Amino acid sequence: MTAKAPGYACPRCTVGRCTPQRTTFCDMVHDQLLSIPNVLAHICDVCNFVEFDQELLDTLWENLYSGTPREELVPAVSSKRSPTFGEG
Ligand SMILES: [Zn+2]
Repeated sequence: MTAKAPGYACPRCTVGRCTPQRTTFCDMVHDQLLSIPNVLAHICDVCNFVEFDQELLDTLWENLYSGTPREELVPAVSSKRSPTFGEG
């Protein structure tokens, strides 16, 4: 059993585990590249699927993207809202 292991089963490959790690958040805001280093995210140890904390995303939306309709923005990172994408 791996109940004591941190993180959770990877929703992408379902084989690995997404564990809390520090990484760099990258996104496009108003045609400019936004890069925030040392951000806590859950990263899969098998397929390297990255899932940022939803609270972080919500905070970013409120502080950085305010005034811009969400429909007009296409996040450069995958999130819980867009779990479907292939590989290779
Ligand atoms: Zn995975």
